[in-house]
Amino acid sequence: MRRPLVAGNWKMHGTRASVAELIKGLRLLALPTGVEVAVFPPCLYINQVMTGLDGKAIAVGAQNCAVEPMQGALTGEIASSQLADAGCTLVLVGHSERRQILGESDELLSRKFAAAQSCGLTPVLCIGETLAQREAGKTLEVVGRQLGSVIEELGVGAFARAVIAYEPVWAIGTGLTATPEQAQEVHAAIRAQLQAENAEVARGVRILYGGSVKAANAVELFGMPDIDGGLIGGASLNADEFGAICRAAGN
Ligand code: PEP
Repeated sequence: MRRPLVAGNWKMHGTRASVAELIKGLRLLALPTGVEVAVFPPCLYINQVMTGLDGKAIAVGAQNCAVEPMQGALTGEIASSQLADAGCTLVLVGHSERRQILGESDELLSRKFAAAQSCGLTPVLCIGETLAQREAGKTLEVVGRQLGSVIEELGVGAFARAVIAYEPVWAIGTGLTATPEQAQEVHAAIRAQLQAENAEVARGVRILYGGSVKAANAVELFGMPDIDGGLIGGASLNADEFGAICRAAGN
């Protein structure tokens, strides 16, 4: 039985004051016991969030890590070992904003994935197709290639200690959501790709859906057999909305 995970990606949002408010709201949430909950603040606020959520069952992750696992001469980057030292347990790898705006390649992302794991962090590998790719009927090919590149570099066993987030690019921050059936089709294909190499890994890995998830559509999405929770962007900046999504995953 896979334990659902609901993860809030705060992206490049927040100030010390607004983060303090959000922490206050998160502390007040009644969270379902069967659901793992995590937030991914901007790095600058990780320490504030870690301290503010002390004693609350919410894990803290980072939105990115360096290709090199250990600290060193790499200006502007943060090593997985430093994230682990700060108390992070998870890290996003390959969010579409980083793939598209910053040009992160599959090859680079495999290195980040490996760096994270080597420091004990759980990578959350984000994959998903653009609208043009979906309209060209290439969704499964694109997602299969993004996943396949990590499997090829690191082996399918790497997914025994990882999470996958399927995030159609056209649904991120747009208010458009994949229907539960559209999302399920891709999630099932992702699991089948892993299953072809290792049935146990395929059974155990959590595959989150991300893309304009709100309390209003979460129950239906999370009700699909291969959707094991969500990666939530905009809605995770509102503690009450985020709490309602977490409770939807507990249903
Ligand atoms: C995201 O940034 O991962 C995301 C899914 O954003 P949103 O929920 O705002 O679409």
